[in-house]
Amino acid sequence: MNDNIVKRNELLAQKVIKGLESRNMTGYYAASKEEALKKALEIIPEGASVTMGGARSAYEIGLVDAIKAGNYRFIDRENAETPEEKRKAMLEGYDADFFLSSANAMTDDGVLVNIDGNSNRVSMIAQGPKKVLFIVGMNKVTSDIDSAMKRARNVAAPINAQRFGLSTPCSKLGTCMNCKSPDTICCQFLITRFSRHTDRIHVILVNDDLGF
Ligand code: SF4
Repeated sequence: MNDNIVKRNELLAQKVIKGLESRNMTGYYAASKEEALKKALEIIPEGASVTMGGARSAYEIGLVDAIKAGNYRFIDRENAETPEEKRKAMLEGYDADFFLSSANAMTDDGVLVNIDGNSNRVSMIAQGPKKVLFIVGMNKVTSDIDSAMKRARNVAAPINAQRFGLSTPCSKLGTCMNCKSPDTICCQFLITRFSRHTDRIHVILVNDDLGF
């Protein structure tokens, strides 16, 4: 990565971390995916129960593989074979020690923005798991909530809709048409602007392009 981009990301990350602190959340900066993985494994103690939702960035830094291979109890909805098993794993996830997530976007003063169709992800960010660990590439940082919402709806949503083969206008046009399609992934918007619970929400900002 170009040195000037690295410098800019370092400086911007410090602003985001200050913003997170002012919102009772904790931020960290990782100069690389490897550093991000190391930091995540420092935050999650061995033996912890861990679940996840919509966390492509956690896969991209190798965290999901490390959790599956390590001394953790991974609660995996995706391996459930029946709708009943999936629901059981989801409900178990609400009581997990850690929830791994990415963000669709976040502002440079520490506000996280997420959209969701099934809504398990936004509900677990808001309440349930004892701690939430976000892995966020610097490509997700925007200047304000308006631009974060635009990013979520015009960049993240169309890519995710295509990824899951959903029949939404954005999956065909590449941009949001504010649809009410049965397939819409924009059922719930969660803006996380403060954490009432100290030490619950942690955000690792990664000097890389991660996720969508
Ligand atoms: S509202 Fe509809 S068109 Fe817009 S991003 Fe969401 S799913 Fe796509």
